[in-house]
Amino acid sequence: MTNANVMSDSQESALMDEETYKVIEQQFGGTLPVPESINEELLAIPEEKVDTCNNNLHYAALESVGKLKRFKEEEEEEYYPAPELFSTMLSDEAFTGQLNFQCSLGTGGTGQDWLYSEKLDKVFIKMEKVLPMRFTWEPPMSGLYLRTTMVFMLEQYRSDPVRRCHNHMASTNPINLNMDPQRIKHVVHCVNHASSIYQERNEHLSILTPLCTPEAGSQYMPVSFKFLCKNSCPSGLNRRPTELVFTLEDHGGTVLGRRKLLVRVCSCPKRDKAKEEELSSMSSKRKLGNVVLPSSKKMLSSCDTHVYKVDLNIVGKENYLTVLKIAFDIMAGQAARTGQHEFYKPYMDEILRKMP
Ligand SMILES: [Zn+2]
Repeated sequence: MTNANVMSDSQESALMDEETYKVIEQQFGGTLPVPESINEELLAIPEEKVDTCNNNLHYAALESVGKLKRFKEEEEEEYYPAPELFSTMLSDEAFTGQLNFQCSLGTGGTGQDWLYSEKLDKVFIKMEKVLPMRFTWEPPMSGLYLRTTMVFMLEQYRSDPVRRCHNHMASTNPINLNMDPQRIKHVVHCVNHASSIYQERNEHLSILTPLCTPEAGSQYMPVSFKFLCKNSCPSGLNRRPTELVFTLEDHGGTVLGRRKLLVRVCSCPKRDKAKEEELSSMSSKRKLGNVVLPSSKKMLSSCDTHVYKVDLNIVGKENYLTVLKIAFDIMAGQAARTGQHEFYKPYMDEILRKMP
């Protein structure tokens, strides 16, 4: 899926610490790609770029488990899964587990309210509209729980809690009239299971839905959601791409299966779907080495084209190759963003020649 020589931004950052990053930045000139400074639209298509590399990373950098163990209400402790394993929920790894936990979309995704993009494996939905989901596990035993959490997709934001923006959370906002105060901060709301519990652990919000067995004649458990904030909101989601993480948990909070679904809450699902699919195609072409002209001419002028010569002594073959690879990728990224492919090509070729 990804060209061996093209790493995503997140891979770059995963490979080195900030210090190294800065050094390379200085040595090579220009700036390393920072999502906010790039075209905002590019932010919307990172799934292909980032999903392959972080699957094995666990974002366990939450605070101590001891803190997580604390419950606000004691009765919750008696009846609902303990959140010891809360941090594993933030892991990227999707798995069906022994119970073959699966989820799919319900019907209705062709209208104005929400759309599913097969190409991006992503749902585009309007605020306050219902997203019908179906969950299955085998055998269909009862006593299990579904935890639904919205998380930021990009690794650098992964540990940030997802919560509604100030504007949508305001008590003066009509959406919040008569809303249970416990739910106010939640972007995601479950609409068809009144027994769902809105939890907050270490600022991370999730919904825990007790699951019974599917009704006779039905093969799945329908659980529907709505979203009370948009990805484009300036605070809260703040234009960062998000996904829903569904975990099947037992009474003790053990995660038995995990599924994910990319979701963008927006005003115009049709338009945003088309736009992101187009950007995704551009991104694929870029990976194949084609020249792709940028949509924004502004980017051309903002690119530093001064060439710096680097002479470094690097210990270890792997480290040496990593530095070369990163340098290559930085320029490949800038070439694609600015459209100045011909300009970058000789410098990129020079690096390739140094690689075995
Ligand atoms: Zn909002």
